[in-house]
Amino acid sequence: MLIAGNWKMYKGPAEAAEFCLGLREQELDGVDVVVCPPYLSLAVAVQLLAGTEIAVAAQSVHWEDSGAYTGEISAQMLREVGVYGAIVGHSERRQYFGETDETVGKRVHAALQAGLFVIACVGETEEERETGQTEDVLRRQLSVLEPDDNLVVAYEPVWAIGTGKTATPEIAQEAHAFIKSRLDLPVLYGGSVKPENAGALLAQPDLDGALVGGASLDLESFTAICLAATRS
Ligand code: PEP
Repeated sequence: MLIAGNWKMYKGPAEAAEFCLGLREQELDGVDVVVCPPYLSLAVAVQLLAGTEIAVAAQSVHWEDSGAYTGEISAQMLREVGVYGAIVGHSERRQYFGETDETVGKRVHAALQAGLFVIACVGETEEERETGQTEDVLRRQLSVLEPDDNLVVAYEPVWAIGTGKTATPEIAQEAHAFIKSRLDLPVLYGGSVKPENAGALLAQPDLDGALVGGASLDLESFTAICLAATRS
């Protein structure tokens, strides 16, 4: 089981340091744990989690090594500060920053080539689900990915992200099974995962872990979700 915490645009270096010092003290044997701080807090997280099994990943990564791409960060730069991986194609990137399937594919490919671990996000909107397009959307989003030992998919239905509306374990299981029928990769679930619902979700056969947003910002709730994963 893999539990990844997406901090989004929360926790500058000081808060990140405080969180990582606390996380180091937790007993998290039996679960793979990744934290994904904003770019500016990556270096301090890498330093403070050194010597632990907890990995640090970025929230996106550019496809070029360097160049005139204002505001972007390359895989080489992430590697230089000891970052282990990156999330790619989060729905907030698709919704607010013009990320497309094509750019997701380019980012994933470059990150894997550079030796990073990648969590590639897919998921349908509420309207797409209600109009019966879920499988078409997933098929299209998955079409830019290829199996790789360093790649996992995160199924994050957009209607469940940051809304408190979690997919039922059955809905999540159905989508995960569909994704796995297209691509033989581990699949994490993301969308309002909390300590109270983590156990039931992670008990589903095709859930290989979770990508946690809001509940990963609090040490107690993030630790509780990691512990739920050790029991699943
Ligand atoms: C996320 O940001 O990937 C996410 C799933 O957010 P939340 O857990 O807050 O819904």
